Amino acid sequence: MIKFLDLLEINKRHKEELKAAFERVLDSGWYIMGNELKTFEADFAAYCGTKHAIGVANGLDALILIIRAYKELGLFQDGDEIIVPANTYIASILAVSANNLVPVLVEPDINTYNINPALIEARITSKTKAILPVHLYGQLCDMEAINAIAQKHGLKVIEDCAQAHGAASNTKLAGNFGDAAGFSFYPGKNLGALGDAGAITTNNDKLAEALRALLNYGSEIKYKNKYKGLNSRLDELQAALLGVKLKTLDDETLTKRAIANRYLQEIKNPKVILPEVAELSAHVWHLFVIRTQNREQIQQYLTANDIQTVIHYPIPPHKQEAYKEWNNLSYPISEKIHSEALSLPLSPVLTPAEVDQVIKIVNAY
Ligand SMILES: *Cc1c(COP(=O)(O)O)cnc(C)c1O
Repeated sequence: MIKFLDLLEINKRHKEELKAAFERVLDSGWYIMGNELKTFEADFAAYCGTKHAIGVANGLDALILIIRAYKELGLFQDGDEIIVPANTYIASILAVSANNLVPVLVEPDINTYNINPALIEARITSKTKAILPVHLYGQLCDMEAINAIAQKHGLKVIEDCAQAHGAASNTKLAGNFGDAAGFSFYPGKNLGALGDAGAITTNNDKLAEALRALLNYGSEIKYKNKYKGLNSRLDELQAALLGVKLKTLDDETLTKRAIANRYLQEIKNPKVILPEVAELSAHVWHLFVIRTQNREQIQQYLTANDIQTVIHYPIPPHKQEAYKEWNNLSYPISEKIHSEALSLPLSPVLTPAEVDQVIKIVNAY
């Protein structure tokens, strides 16, 4: 069986270093908010090229906290609107709802799967406060166009970088294109912890200060609470493990990009639509998502041929029970992507022979 994503193989390659990091944390006797977190935050900020990187408990919390911080700073209020892509993992949208703000959905571009900047302005109202672009499947959104719209209308830009660690355009990296960004280090993400973890990047000192308090019970000084905060700390162990894996992130991305390029060049089947890449460096291939009208059939055929695939994602956010109030709305492009998307195996531990096999079997369908 060619696995979709073999996390054991991925992490095994770092076994000795991960064990050493674990031992260091164990022996330190200090497990929350210590030197491991400080070191990882400094390393991740340097990697992204931002002034601040702030460790948090997971990617959803990263986005929730950014919006919460803007509320505490008096820039957003209950009922304000944030533009989000209709085609995303639901977390991007939940982060807005969780703060009593209103997510306003905008359709994607059918070829890149990312939010279509040309459709954003029509959805801006007097209540719009921010745009929340999601670099879906690892490909940067058209940030030049999005930032121009944001600037024109005085909106904040909050990047959802949960799938895009290291994606770059003109030497600038994901997490450094807007006012703040949320990252996830869920085990299957490009940079994955051995559990839940996340981070926020920003160049704004005031925002960073509010965020650091909010993620720790709203407290700047112990037992003195400035805000009604959360407990969303990144623990020392995950920070230490992430520090090990950050060192090889770029190598892993290059390996995945080479595999993706082989798929793009060698998969030739009229029943399969390949993803469109706007700029080579701007795609870090969290997922290789094809589209096909015979999705269930192709998936069964691939399974029968020992190739594991996954659907990202089967149900669009506006058709979820969680958003009952939107179930009658129509976002046909997002719905089309959700009904046709199929993710092929793509990971830094796929062997050339496995890549050959995926290409051969897909072409033979
Ligand atoms: C994974 C993901 C999140 C949430 O991250 P968690 O760490 O699982 O909370 C948010 N947005 C997108 C696009 C994601 O893929």
